[in-house]
Amino acid sequence: MTTQPLLAPEVQRYLQRAQRIVALTGAGISAESGIPTFRDAQTGLWARYNPQELASPEALATNPGLVWAWYTWRRGLVKQAAPNPGHLALAEMERRVPQFTLITQNVDGLHQQAGSQNVLELHGNIMRTVCVAHRHPVTQWEPAPEGEAPKCPICGSVLRPDVVLFGENLPTDVFQQALEASRTCDAMLVIGTSGVVYPAAALPGLAKENGALVIEINPQETPLSAEADVCLRGPAGEILPALVRQVWPDQPTTQKL
Ligand code: NAD
Repeated sequence: MTTQPLLAPEVQRYLQRAQRIVALTGAGISAESGIPTFRDAQTGLWARYNPQELASPEALATNPGLVWAWYTWRRGLVKQAAPNPGHLALAEMERRVPQFTLITQNVDGLHQQAGSQNVLELHGNIMRTVCVAHRHPVTQWEPAPEGEAPKCPICGSVLRPDVVLFGENLPTDVFQQALEASRTCDAMLVIGTSGVVYPAAALPGLAKENGALVIEINPQETPLSAEADVCLRGPAGEILPALVRQVWPDQPTTQKL
């Protein structure tokens, strides 16, 4: 039995010669690690809420207990999760490409756990906690009474996870670096993102305008599919290791894919 190569030969050669590759990831790459995407997370206990009701500054102000319960639940999932073969394949790719930038919308830290070094976290990190008033980084706090948010031990203002909530701006320096990497890359892999959360969803278009080859990896069609040169339909945990094996077959690997 022979298996079909994943990529056409010209795409394989293009990636082999590429000097700058960007990977843009979304919640889909962590789905195989057991962290639900936003859509999947709206089941069971949380089915009654939409993400804006749980992850917005207004929700934190009006219903802090609910917001903290939701983030505490998600933190529990992240603590239990480990990187999957998709995360490991991207860390492997970084070791083989002259300039590799990983731009992630995820807040779970799994790319860094997998060994990726050059990671731009557009939406922050769920495991960090800061205060609303001064952004003091906080690692320990008194438990809050039922229905309330815990308070900053330094200034007494409300604590929140260090993530970008709906309606908030992205961290400027991180987003500037993401824009620059997207403008100047030879190829962009768009992995596990529904392409509806802006401004991250604008990055593939920017890469394409500047001449990059855009490859989407997602089991489903998305609004970004139309601007992709190549669409690879399947789970990232299967597609990415196969892509690395095909494009860089003869080089030593430090991680088993
Ligand atoms: P999304 O939930 O809107 O979309 C997920 C996408 O992943 C979908 O297109 C789906 O088809 C695809 N997908 C599902 N399983 C996949 C797999 N195995 N391999 C590849 N693709 C798969 O997520 P989004 O586009 O990242 O945007 C929503 C926002 O949700 C982001 O801002 C992000 O910060 C936040 N979020 C993050 C996490 C996390 O950190 N893991 C989890 C949930 C939501």
